[in-house]
Amino acid sequence: MVTGAASPPRAARRATHGRAKVPGQAPQACRRQNGRVPALPDDARCPCLSGETYAACCGRFHAGLPTGGPYAPTAETLMRSRYSAFAVEDADYLLATWHPTTRPADLNLADGTEWRRLDVRRTEAGGPFDETGVVEFVAHHRSAVGRGQMREVSRFVREDGRWYYLDGDSA
Ligand SMILES: [Zn+2]
Repeated sequence: MVTGAASPPRAARRATHGRAKVPGQAPQACRRQNGRVPALPDDARCPCLSGETYAACCGRFHAGLPTGGPYAPTAETLMRSRYSAFAVEDADYLLATWHPTTRPADLNLADGTEWRRLDVRRTEAGGPFDETGVVEFVAHHRSAVGRGQMREVSRFVREDGRWYYLDGDSA
């Protein structure tokens, strides 16, 4: 297995809480109902490959969800944070950022898929003052059956200052 930049999040998974600043630091109280905690240390490369650390990128939105923010300010940042949530298997974040009208009852992310890379191809609107947004992306994954790509044009809506994933079409 490749290690380093493209290393899948599961390789870096630790028992420590994602917000812990120092490995081994006492984790904060577990806030996940299902017992899972964010899987990456703060200084890990963010799974969305923005070039930022997890803590400075998608991790702050994952960590902020149960504490009242910060929330992703744009459709693209929400999309990136949802991709990263798939990568770290944070089902709570995915469900909470899914619009209630289209949200599934539950998600099973433990299917062995490794999310390897995200390419955001196009955005429409989706800014802090827009009501709707569109993000087209390609997500590269690998599983027991080999490598694959997921292409989607996703639609997002902003309600009460928060962006939600509404639905998407396979591109
Ligand atoms: Zn990110």
